[in-house]
Amino acid sequence: MRKSSLLLSFALAATGAMAQSKKTTPVTPAADTAKKSAPAAPAKSSIKDKVKSSRKVDGLFTLYQDTVTGSLQMYVRKDQLGKDFIYQSFSMGGPTSLFLHQNMIRATFLFKVQKSYDRLEFLQQNTNFYYDKNNAVSKSANVDVSDAVMFADKFSAEDSLGYLVSVDGLLIGDKLDPVKPVFPPTIPPGAIFNLGMFNASKSKYGLVRSFPNNTDVIVELAYDNPMPLNGGGKDITDARYVRVKMQHSFLEVPENDFRARRDDPRVGYFGAEVDDLTSISPTPYKDFISRWNLVKKDPSAAISEPVEPIVWWIENTTPVELRETIKEAGEKWNEAFEKAGFKNAVVMKIMPDNADWDPADIRYNVIRWVSSANPPYGAIGPSFFNPRNGQILGADITVEWKSGAGTPNFDELFNGGLTGAVTTMPWENIEAAMKPGATYNMFGKKHMASCNLANELATQFQSGVSALEVLDNNGDGNSKETIKEMHKQFLYYLILHEMGHTLGLNHNMKASQMLTPAQVNDKALTAKIGLQGSVMDYPSINVSRDRSKQGDYYTTKAGPYDLWAIEYGYTPFTAAEEEAGLRKILARSTDPQLTFGNDADDMRSPGGGIDPRVMINDMSSDMVTYAEERFKLVNTMVPKMKARFARPDASYAELRGRYLMLQSQRMQMANSVSRYIGGVYVDRSYPGQNATVKPFTPVSADYQKKAMALLTKYIWAPNAFETDTQLFPYLQMQRRGFNFFGSTEDYKPQNIAVTVQMSPLAQILHPITLSRINNSGLYGNTYSVADVMSDLVKGIFNEDLKTNVNLYRQNLQTEFVRGLAMIANAPMGYDNASKAAAVSTLKKVRASLTTAVSTNEQSRAHRTNLNFLIDKALAVK
Ligand SMILES: [Zn+2]
Repeated sequence: MRKSSLLLSFALAATGAMAQSKKTTPVTPAADTAKKSAPAAPAKSSIKDKVKSSRKVDGLFTLYQDTVTGSLQMYVRKDQLGKDFIYQSFSMGGPTSLFLHQNMIRATFLFKVQKSYDRLEFLQQNTNFYYDKNNAVSKSANVDVSDAVMFADKFSAEDSLGYLVSVDGLLIGDKLDPVKPVFPPTIPPGAIFNLGMFNASKSKYGLVRSFPNNTDVIVELAYDNPMPLNGGGKDITDARYVRVKMQHSFLEVPENDFRARRDDPRVGYFGAEVDDLTSISPTPYKDFISRWNLVKKDPSAAISEPVEPIVWWIENTTPVELRETIKEAGEKWNEAFEKAGFKNAVVMKIMPDNADWDPADIRYNVIRWVSSANPPYGAIGPSFFNPRNGQILGADITVEWKSGAGTPNFDELFNGGLTGAVTTMPWENIEAAMKPGATYNMFGKKHMASCNLANELATQFQSGVSALEVLDNNGDGNSKETIKEMHKQFLYYLILHEMGHTLGLNHNMKASQMLTPAQVNDKALTAKIGLQGSVMDYPSINVSRDRSKQGDYYTTKAGPYDLWAIEYGYTPFTAAEEEAGLRKILARSTDPQLTFGNDADDMRSPGGGIDPRVMINDMSSDMVTYAEERFKLVNTMVPKMKARFARPDASYAELRGRYLMLQSQRMQMANSVSRYIGGVYVDRSYPGQNATVKPFTPVSADYQKKAMALLTKYIWAPNAFETDTQLFPYLQMQRRGFNFFGSTEDYKPQNIAVTVQMSPLAQILHPITLSRINNSGLYGNTYSVADVMSDLVKGIFNEDLKTNVNLYRQNLQTEFVRGLAMIANAPMGYDNASKAAAVSTLKKVRASLTTAVSTNEQSRAHRTNLNFLIDKALAVK
């Protein structure tokens, strides 16, 4: 939250300066006007006059839209002056690279409207600080913190109840939520898509709606960039003219006795960070979580229905055949609420086709289905909350239709390579590598609320479909039933996960660690506690190679962590009992089933995170064993792919897409396993919990070596992709128009293979990983950088040292040597011990090459090149 307001204040400062320099018609201060025009003040026209050509939109704020010009005027009632309101913005369509696509939740803040002489001012309030009223210092509260005046204008008319003010200047433009990001000067021009200059004359209003508790105005903001240096993605029609669709929502702050509940590092809720400026504690935080206002009908009952349940409407855009499954899935959250003392806390309803209400009305929480041309996500569950205390006021879930469909778009799934592929090795751009997720961070923490689960889940699901079609289908179509069951579980999971977000929960990427590889297929166990600790993870699909031992594909119930988290967030307490009650719940955090780690800790990008268990697309507490099974599954499937997916009356496009998905499975497994090398387990329990574990425990050397051995065998070995060879001549895309123009259509096995091979190396040889291996050597890690390098050399060079080197291994060996050369000569980022290990490793490789045996010319050329690269690297040194 704080980051986003910083961004906002930057932009406000900029627009403020511009407004001043542009001031051609000076706005006379009110006092002056009064002096000059006092004798003959022209009677202000009446509100009736001012709105006579306008359409009235009645609601929280009443709006009048001119039917000729489209201009908007707002009627602010006198009793609304000085009152807190919530502002919430959503992007409704725009460049995905700038996080401006549909239903992305953006700014949330409190604002108020104030009258100053003949003008109305719209002020944004700062809710980042807390002052204890009992501390005298609180009298000087917010001395350095001023409210930001976003907009001020003369009201055009007044009556006994309120004022009429034109709000075009407030709504059309950057005043409320600057959509145009402010890039740090270190980002080179053209590196990121840029919107250009705002063009007011091409901007306009979309839907304008007002309801009793909220007023929503959709605007289309136009940006012109005459000379774009970056053409943007597929979704950009013309980089010179871009339109961003935004929704401004104004919400009423409910008046009730809702009390904020404090945040805690051991459990994962969205919320807000607040600094207590009257506290001398080393952690002066008053952070609170976001949650719904659930109150027991019968406060004395252990379990009671809530006064107002959380009601979800399955919108009538939802495919009819999915509605029952979604209803069932949503109702599964009730099990978790029972732990917090509530019965029927979540109520799922189906919106009738003839409903007379609008899903945009905040009083209705809706799950809607859309189908967009270029979906950036598959489902998203934003919710809006009161910035003062975290009360969730409403939420909607948007599901991309394709994520639930059985017709995947392979081009989209593999556009630009494999999911999770690393395009630049860390040693090629160390500065960028040292800031993992730099682009992500630049847009502020608010995008932590974004969820691309369905994208990941869809690839996993389709890999599962391939597996069932290959392994279960004996020609009589008997895989159909199992695929149907798998799809149902997929939907269940998607809905449980997205609803979890709307209940306030953030991701728990550690949750898929709950069970051992043997337990994950134990249906009796998973029926009781689920497959994972939480539905808030991005798991690998749990498909078993041994079809007689298939368990659940996805977890279909809230897990032990979810139950515990809801208990923490929603158990009602009196103010006096709350802290003790929360502590009692939190004391259980050491239970392995309740383990937690969110996106900020996860290791999906090389160099990010430190605990290998906090990872996406993984499963079980022993990833080396689980991944080996998955590699074997892929290798079993590959030879059977053509018989199943080269369909008589279709092109080879499906075969190609499904094969690539298997490569992606290999890569995800390799990535997950690579995180254990140099990994450090994190534990956030407090000393008083009698935890036997330390906050930081390096992964055992034994397990790190096992991970290395697995990568060597299934990713780096000369025969790792041997079984795939038979498919290469068939991996043809479907010609469509001129889609091969500017490229060639042949399948290029070495390109995909090198991506898979290098992906784990991007993690292991990352400056942050190598430095951590050295650092953790000082507190328990016994697998040193020199050991890691030595095992890499063995895995990458030994097996074919006495024979010829195939193309896969030539690429791997060359890229490895190039990487070491860059590390040895890196001007920054790599620590001394890592650079020393790189130099020593290059020398060892050169020495071993003198014993190599090549019988073909290509292998001789390859080894000559390796010697050349090593000599050059060491000469520079
Ligand atoms: Zn999510």
